[in-house]
Amino acid sequence: MAVLVTGATGFIALWVVHYLLEEGYEVIGTVRSQEKAEKLQRQFGSEAKLSFEIVPDISVVNAFDHVLQKRAPEIEYVLHTASPFHYKTTEYEKDLLIPAVNGTKGILNAIKKYGAQTVKRLVITSSYAAILDPSKLGDSSTIFTEKSWNPTTWEGCRTDPSNAYRASKKFAELAAWEFLETNKDIVKFKLTTVNPVLVFGPQKFDEDVKGQLNTSNEVINVPLHSSPGDKLPNTQGFFIDVRDVAKAHLLAFQKEDTIGQRLGLSNGRVNTQGVVDILNNKFPQLKGKIAEGPTPGKANQAVGADFDNTKTKELLGFAFNSLENVVYDTAAQILKKESRL
Ligand code: NDP
Repeated sequence: MAVLVTGATGFIALWVVHYLLEEGYEVIGTVRSQEKAEKLQRQFGSEAKLSFEIVPDISVVNAFDHVLQKRAPEIEYVLHTASPFHYKTTEYEKDLLIPAVNGTKGILNAIKKYGAQTVKRLVITSSYAAILDPSKLGDSSTIFTEKSWNPTTWEGCRTDPSNAYRASKKFAELAAWEFLETNKDIVKFKLTTVNPVLVFGPQKFDEDVKGQLNTSNEVINVPLHSSPGDKLPNTQGFFIDVRDVAKAHLLAFQKEDTIGQRLGLSNGRVNTQGVVDILNNKFPQLKGKIAEGPTPGKANQAVGADFDNTKTKELLGFAFNSLENVVYDTAAQILKKESRL
């Protein structure tokens, strides 16, 4: 029996595929083109128990029908990770909201049509973005938990790419829980969502390190490539290692007590200053060559709303990787590629 991973080319998904193969699962990945399938087949090796189906655009209604129609008898678990995560648009509905929501509805409906009795578990990669309330981020008395929901509306989120992205994750996740409620007597699968904060970490394959990385790793990549005097953005939030996110995707469908849960993945606070300090401490060759952080002496300071994910940590039962380690691994991979390590 196989695991279907949608968006297999993604930063997080490549690590998910890695751990699935390591644990002996057969993996079917959806990718947007034959060329991308061939690249992944080469990267994971021709002997890997890995095959591909092409889904060019998850915005298209019923985008996953042909995949489930053909492969449903083999598929026991579905991990839906595909969703746009970038801020490079002003067409929020077309580029962020619709692909996220249609993609989620698309996989749900395809399972209902062709795998209602065979798919046992569905894991959806949602986000902390679906949990937080943007208006309370600066409020130190607010504590979000796995039960919290972003209150944004479809109309109200269209202020900037960041709010539109957050809303895309909220509405996509909500569509999944609502679908399950409506269809619980028709489909057999149990649902779990994985809701990570900012995900840092090395690319699965060194060759995929490029000038610009996936959105979350830019929090490390931008300071790493800065020059003295540059004004760095003051990012503040929470972090988690991509390898922990990937492991959580496996436990999400392997464990019984994760059924019906939203797994909030965070290992604590991070800000740009915290990243800059680690870069300076761990890589002496960068000292004096990169920008000073925006808040010297205030690395990873506790300002604004907190995120309490105690319940998730108990459910998963493994220790998350530290900020020092993940920033080191991410930066070391980049520096190695640039012959600066
Ligand atoms: P990536 O951008 O690396 O991966 C996104 C994946 O979705 C890629 O496989 C991409 O395909 C695919 N995709 C995007 N839009 C479409 C589309 N219209 N049609 C078909 N496929 C599409 O991002 P991440 O790995 O970081 O994100 C993966 C998931 O994790 C997303 O759901 C994201 O919202 C979520 N997440 C990420 C966090 C982070 O900090 N990175 C934090 C919380 C949640 P292609 O490569 O071909 O473009």
